[in-house]
This record gives sequence, C-alpha cells and structure tokens, in this order.
Amino acid sequence: MFRGEDIGIDLGTASVLIYVRGKGIVLREPSVIAMVQGTKEVKAVGAEAYRMIGRTPANIVAAKPLRDGVIADYTLTEQMLTRFLKKVLTPTSRFFRPQVMVGVPSGVTEVERRAVVQAIVEAGAKRAFLIDEPMAAAIGSGINIAEPTGSMVVDIGGGSTDIAVISLGGIVQSTSLRIAGNEFDEAIARYIRTHKNLLIGERTAEELKIQIGAAKLRPEDPEVTAEIRGRDLISGLPKTVEVSSVDIVEALQEPIQKIIEGVKGILEITPPELISDIIDRGILLTGGGSLLRNLDLVLREATGVPVVLAENAIEAVALGTGRALEMLHVLKDTLVSSDNILKR
Ligand code: ADP
Ligand code: MG
Repeated sequence: MFRGEDIGIDLGTASVLIYVRGKGIVLREPSVIAMVQGTKEVKAVGAEAYRMIGRTPANIVAAKPLRDGVIADYTLTEQMLTRFLKKVLTPTSRFFRPQVMVGVPSGVTEVERRAVVQAIVEAGAKRAFLIDEPMAAAIGSGINIAEPTGSMVVDIGGGSTDIAVISLGGIVQSTSLRIAGNEFDEAIARYIRTHKNLLIGERTAEELKIQIGAAKLRPEDPEVTAEIRGRDLISGLPKTVEVSSVDIVEALQEPIQKIIEGVKGILEITPPELISDIIDRGILLTGGGSLLRNLDLVLREATGVPVVLAENAIEAVALGTGRALEMLHVLKDTLVSSDNILKR
C-alpha cells in the first residue's frame, strides 16, 4: 500500500521545526520571512531571512509573522509555511500527498486556526490537523495523554509561555502568557541600559541570557562574566562593558515572577484529583525558554511541586505533532482538521 508521508510541524514564534515520520526532524529554522516592501515578493525565509533582520536596505523588510504567541500576519505565516513545506516535500510526497499535523500556540484564534489549515492544504497536504502546543509537548515528552491522569505542561517559547493541565486526551485548564524568551531578552536589555548606561541589541541580550543567564544562582554555581559591546548612552560612542551572571539573574526576576504567577494561577483552579497526579508526576517544562539555568529549581521552590525539565525540551512539540498523527483516534475530538473545516 502506498501512502503519503506523515509530517509534523511545530509552528513556533521563534522557530519552525518539521518532523517527517521515519526521518526525524528534517528542518529547524527561525520563524522569519523577508520580502520586498510594496510588491510583497518573498526574498527569503528562515535562517537566511533571520540574518537580514536589522540589516536590510530600505525596500526589503524582514519580519516575524508570529509574535507573542499569536499570528501577527496571516499572509506572511502562510507564505513562510509554504516555503518550508516545499523544502521538505520529496517528489513522492508531492504525489502521495502527506498528512500534516501542526502545533500552534494555544493563543491562536479559531479564525487563524482555520486559516493555517487552509494554508497547509493549499501547500499540498492531503489532510491537515492542528493541535495545541502543550498537548503536542506532552505527547512528544512521552506522556500518555489518553489516560485519566492529570499532567501539567509549561512550554516556554520565544513569544509565549503556554501552561496547560491535560487529562484524558483533552486540555482541562490552560493559559497563554505573553512572557517568554523574548521578554527575558528585553528585560536584560532594559537592565543593561539602566544599570550600565549601555544600549544593546536584542541578539546580544539573547546571547547573554544563553551564555551566562540563570533564574537563580545556587551557592555552588560559579559567578561568570561576559564582555559585551554596545553604545554608551552618555557619550553616544561604542563601548565594551563587563556583565556578570548576578546582573542577569536580577534582570530576569520580573518576567520569571510573572511565569510563576501564571503557573500558580492554573494550579489554583485545577481539580484536586488532578493536582494530586501533578504532584506525583511533576510539572513538565518544555520549550527553548525552559533551558534557562535553574528555572526548574525556581519554579519548584515557588510552587512546592516537583518540576521535570523535558529531555528534548526544544524538540518536544515537533516530535509530539508527528506522534499525534498516529493517535488520531484519541485526539479527534480536540483537533481542528481540514476534514471538518473544508466541508463547511
Ligand atoms: P517557540 O516555540 O516560540 O518557537 P522555542 O521553544 O524555540 O520557541 O524557544 C525559543 C526561546 O528559547 C528563545 O527566546 C531562545 O532565546 C530561548 N533559548 C534557547 N536556548 C536557550 C538556553 N540554553 N537558555 C535560555 N534560553 C534559551
Ligand atoms: Mg514552541
């Protein structure tokens, strides 16, 4: 029997990952698209477009079509997805059209969900399904979502933190905060501006976060420093400044506190039986933002609930979308699919 390939897509605010059954993750690119202003002709997508951010001539713009966990520009999202899909579709899969499962941030509206499904079908899929990212993250981390046991997933991405309690194949409670990795970067840039009088770009802030950042420093964590370049706010000239991990910890307190509040808020409205399951299993942390050093520790101290950092935190959603295609019987009630949208 010939059949189309099964493809899973993590449509994230920071990056897009594509999983092909039997091949694994075949594409991992920033969620960026560059086009000519006016004509809207697409110049580049992904890594190539990312390099253009902040460096384009006047007539070209490089944009992030997903922002803060929602689709900021639908047309651009569609064009970006179509380009990425073209990159991974083989001649065989163009003929035996694939089934595609897309993980979207839970803040994406019903109208946008339909639009994404439509875009995927137009790009050559036989059928398209959408799944909420926290659900995909849980599946991708090996949680059996079909059983009547509660699990809590906190997925910290670039633009949004999605918090969800899952049981029996469905989402029991959830929220999406617009505080995640990007906000961490902005908080670092703000801190450096006010405490060091230095203006730094978003990419420098992100590097600081990844290299020396932490949610907290334990006594055994060594204090590390980094030299950064930026513009001195007083002289207006380039300057090099030393920043330490203590600075970054302080800079990140506010956004981290907001994530803690979000998690506590969901715990407070979760039914007691499920809370008991969550205490047994621990809160599952996924997404690139969850890799901030000691963030799991801080979350555990603040909630009193064990916290488990997913083994494949960055890939969990993509892996989960792929596996979800094998679990359609369990998920069918919770998915948006091209079968029921395009019929209407
Ligand atoms: P999305 O699902 O929104 O596309 P990701 O799950 O890919 O986002 O996570 C992207 C975020 O993770 C970015 O803000 C990035 O800076 C952050 N990130 C990646 N690696 C690390 C790390 N080692 N430490 C802290 N943050 C990280
Ligand atoms: Mg994500």
